[in-house]
Amino acid sequence: MPTDISTSSPSEPVPFIDLVAQYQTIRDEVKEAVDQVFETQSFVLGEQVEQLEAEIAEYCDARHAIGCASGTDALILSLLGLGIGPGDEVITSPFTFFATAGAIHRIGARPKFVDIDPVTYNLDPQQVEDAIDDNTKAIMPVHIFGQCAEMEPLWRISASKNIPIIEDACQAIGAEYRGRRAGVLGRVGCFSFFPTKNLGGAGDGGIITTDDPELAARLKRLRVHGDVGGYNHVEVGFNSRLDALQAAVLRVKLRHLEDWSEGRRQNARRYGELIRSLNILSSVEVPVTAADHRHVFNQYTLRIRGGMRDAVMEHMRANGAGCAVYYPIPLHMQQCFDYLGYQPADFPESNRAAQEVLSLPIFSELTDEQLSRVANVLAEAVSEATTLQFPTENEQQRRAA
Ligand SMILES: *Cc1c(COP(=O)(O)O)cnc(C)c1O
Repeated sequence: MPTDISTSSPSEPVPFIDLVAQYQTIRDEVKEAVDQVFETQSFVLGEQVEQLEAEIAEYCDARHAIGCASGTDALILSLLGLGIGPGDEVITSPFTFFATAGAIHRIGARPKFVDIDPVTYNLDPQQVEDAIDDNTKAIMPVHIFGQCAEMEPLWRISASKNIPIIEDACQAIGAEYRGRRAGVLGRVGCFSFFPTKNLGGAGDGGIITTDDPELAARLKRLRVHGDVGGYNHVEVGFNSRLDALQAAVLRVKLRHLEDWSEGRRQNARRYGELIRSLNILSSVEVPVTAADHRHVFNQYTLRIRGGMRDAVMEHMRANGAGCAVYYPIPLHMQQCFDYLGYQPADFPESNRAAQEVLSLPIFSELTDEQLSRVANVLAEAVSEATTLQFPTENEQQRRAA
């Protein structure tokens, strides 16, 4: 147990996320970019979106990038673009944001869950292989928390069974696996510009990356009602366009993305040092960056052992250290997926993760003081929760009295 926990200072609470702190560093650039869009009065798709698409394609080293209205739509359009629909199954993780499986359901296909690796929280490739059958039409790994899934075995499975990989890279822009960026690790990569993602817009937005020119052309028409130009609709699509205002803001922010990701990695290293020095590693597992990976820490997610997660979270929040649980309910346990027929015990690692994970503030503008404060409050919380759970003899006697 920790020996010298400094009591937390009575200073300002540390927020879980602070988008205002980031905005203060780019305010003038953003205002100018937004102003320019207003001057042109060109608000949907257009030059800003084309520029952003070119810049994201270059950033991910992909041949094509297609902007759309959200990360969820990026997943939906990708599934449809690959011709997946009713009767088909898509293998994915139950330990992810709802939209991953929601998108599969929404296009009429069936989400087929397999369990996660307990260290990285990403899909367990062996279980993916075991789950494949004749109805499996895609594998959708989620690069959870900003670290890519273990792709090599998935590539092997994909090649041998001729099943495409759709990356849910919504949390992982800039993450790398063996030197290649998220977005080019499968047939198609899906990104979200939701404000809390590492590259977040001023509202909803998304983008799809691919090296396949035919798929890119199909995605481009699917986002505009299947129109190939001149009101010729070769198939029925959607309205899922990206706004020029979003693109203009995102282009400004993309210039800073590498610095912000580095800031997140540095903060993660600092938490690691602090947590080690506070001697709480017997109760707290820090995130592991697997070999050959570049983690971009959309979340810095601890595992709190011993059934103490909720107590730790409550103590931290009550003592001015923001924290959050991603995700408290695995998707096979969601009421809307009852029809899939899963049992609670089907995915023990996902269940355990849902009960044990706790994410700390990791945004790049955190100060040293804030990082220390969060770590100290965490140590206090762990110490208190341990005492509650394993009372000393003295306390047992006191309570019994
Ligand atoms: C954010 C997110 C999405 C959905 O993105 P939206 O832009 O909110 O629609 C999908 N999958 C994962 C893993 C996400 O984190």
